[in-house]
Amino acid sequence: MKIPFVDLYAQYLTIKEEMDEAIERTIRNTSFIGGPDVPAFEKEFAAYIGQSYAVACANGTDSLEILLQAFGVGTGDEVIVPAHSWISTAECVSMMGATPVFVDTHPDTYTMDPTKIEEKITDKTKVIIPVHLFGLPADMDPIMALAEKYNLKVIEDSAQSHGATYNGRKIGTIGHAASFSFYPGKNLGAYGDAGGIVTADEALATKFRMIARHGQLKKHDHKFPGRNSRLDGLQAAILRVKLPYLPKWTALRQQHAAAYTERLKDVPGIKIPHVPEGSTHVHHLYVVQVSGRDEIQANLKEKGIATSIHYPTPLPLLEAYDEMGYTAGDIPSCAAYTPKLLSLPIYPEMTVDMIDYVCEHLIQNVNVSV
Ligand SMILES: *Cc1c(COP(=O)(O)O)cnc(C)c1O
Repeated sequence: MKIPFVDLYAQYLTIKEEMDEAIERTIRNTSFIGGPDVPAFEKEFAAYIGQSYAVACANGTDSLEILLQAFGVGTGDEVIVPAHSWISTAECVSMMGATPVFVDTHPDTYTMDPTKIEEKITDKTKVIIPVHLFGLPADMDPIMALAEKYNLKVIEDSAQSHGATYNGRKIGTIGHAASFSFYPGKNLGAYGDAGGIVTADEALATKFRMIARHGQLKKHDHKFPGRNSRLDGLQAAILRVKLPYLPKWTALRQQHAAAYTERLKDVPGIKIPHVPEGSTHVHHLYVVQVSGRDEIQANLKEKGIATSIHYPTPLPLLEAYDEMGYTAGDIPSCAAYTPKLLSLPIYPEMTVDMIDYVCEHLIQNVNVSV
């Protein structure tokens, strides 16, 4: 059996007719930049999240950067981010000339440990960026309480968690704004780069839209120097075809995750994902912890099973952040579990046979290494 890590072509085949029609229509109308699908997607995505405003842009990294700019973050400011994430979460801070301050993450949830945030807050702190990593919401209540106490803004990095919920609320409706990525492999993915934000704050949404469109709302009326970060018409049309399927695809991810968990939960030497009470996990990734991870990954590859590592190095220990002088001792939890992380294949179009095959070989390997 050959099991890819994701299979976007298999997904395309399930919606081929609609998708081909949407792409053809966009080309026929030459709505390459702008056009009717961009505002329509923004409206539909806002409705899906249950938030007042959505504004699209070119990718999820831009959406984080533009939000920070809209909040006025710049040189000398500090932004609190988790040690464990994709680099965009910290990079956006650096690109604004501000300093990312890394907080350790929890070994069960992989999200920012709220008990370790307050000690990092200084009079330079402006924003906290919790990440809903792998599809699981960060622990938002204590984070929002700290933000209120210290008058900070909260950006939910929701790139991996479209549709997840925390204590009955959809992520994207809890912080002051939320950033999304529609990178092809994300739970809602375009056929290229795409991103956007949601917020309840109309002024913030407008500011964001202006920054992303050269400082203008009306053509040739540039209020300030901005940048070019637009969602392509084609990507908007593609995302509009896919959005109605997202609830069904999410349910399939959850079903596959439950199948993995059922097969792996009692196996010594495998730590399965933990879902705290009150949260729903949308399983962008299914990540386990195992000892001897590299050897296990190589053996699975020989059996035709593609796995991945999210992420091999905690952000503050990357070469990119060498100069800041962080050591593993500053983020002990994240540094300790990172060498054990292994992401198993998960995507809506998987079958139970494929999950059986992955589990069978994973369990064999773990037994050998124990
Ligand atoms: C994918 C991702 C981003 C960035 O999204 P792009 O669209 O690839 O720029 C940001 N944060 C997290 C946690 C991500 O997974």
